[in-house]
Amino acid sequence: MGLATLEQLHTICEEVDFETDKVYGKVDYLKELIRKYDLGGASGPEIGYLKRLFVVVNDKPANITWFSEAPTLEDTITMVNPEVRLQGVRYPIYESCQIGYSGFKLRAYKVNVTFQDIDGNEFQAEMKGRLAQFVQHEFDHLNGILVNNFKPLQRLIRWYRSVASPIVNAKN
Ligand SMILES: [Zn+2]
Repeated sequence: MGLATLEQLHTICEEVDFETDKVYGKVDYLKELIRKYDLGGASGPEIGYLKRLFVVVNDKPANITWFSEAPTLEDTITMVNPEVRLQGVRYPIYESCQIGYSGFKLRAYKVNVTFQDIDGNEFQAEMKGRLAQFVQHEFDHLNGILVNNFKPLQRLIRWYRSVASPIVNAKN
């Protein structure tokens, strides 16, 4: 996308204030990017808008259990001022980001989320599978975390490549 500076991408975003922040246009633009680039999600900071909001693709409605009344579901879910709590097992997965980063992350299989829609209505749900992964990726963006920031696993992979894989290769 090339729309955000590196400094913006490392910024912890501010809460959306529905009194003063005009989020409609930003959310439309994020949805447009998701369609155009076939993304799993897109967040405010990726377009240089440093507010706590993102849009994820609603890939499988069966992956959502609503604890509140469900919103009118579209092919995407817009989450404003989200809170995300990780649940269940963690597994490593290789992710890439449209803005040009990629790397391994540990992701939880399930997340509990509370968020607001673009009108400020509040929702609560449990999401799992790929949807939970999209939510964790985009939520990280709101805290200035990119997929290449997860150092421990990268160190382990480097160690494996430098130490373990030559041993494995030597035996073959
Ligand atoms: Zn990303």
